[in-house]
Amino acid sequence: MKIEFDKDSEDGSQTLKQEESPETLQLCAEGASFGEPVKVDLSVSKIGNQLICRGNVKTSAQLECSRCLAIYDQPIISNLDFVVDFGENPQEFKSEEDNYFIADPFADFFEIDNLVREIVILALPLKPLCSEDCKGLCPICGTDLNKSQCSCVKKEVDPRWEKLKGLLGDKS
Ligand SMILES: [Zn+2]
Ligand SMILES: [Zn+2]
Repeated sequence: MKIEFDKDSEDGSQTLKQEESPETLQLCAEGASFGEPVKVDLSVSKIGNQLICRGNVKTSAQLECSRCLAIYDQPIISNLDFVVDFGENPQEFKSEEDNYFIADPFADFFEIDNLVREIVILALPLKPLCSEDCKGLCPICGTDLNKSQCSCVKKEVDPRWEKLKGLLGDKS
């Protein structure tokens, strides 16, 4: 994906909609798989030697729920705001900022694949959940409590009591 621009054009804005396959973007993250195209929606304003880009990235990833271990689709939407400076004397002092990029002064485009890939990876949840109220798996029998109930939940096991019952049982 890239943003093309004409250095000599008058200042103005344009909207840019692009989409790319996860394969082409080389999207890859541990525990995630990507099957949906990655959509980028940007409004690009040219002001002098800068392109002010604002918009978002949308896609979806297949993740494993950290509670019930089910594979589910996690929608991903993240802001994509950055500035590209294509002037011959870019403001070097600003290049430390995450969202400020200096374009090749001889190019008439700016490649955003790396940026988009990074934004998608950063948007992945640290603790994936298939739903906010996922009940998870029963720690005793492993039943998926979203799908069915199991008897262990109902009797409210106190581990200390269980141990004592075991001891008494051995003696009788
Ligand atoms: Zn879950
Ligand atoms: Zn159970």
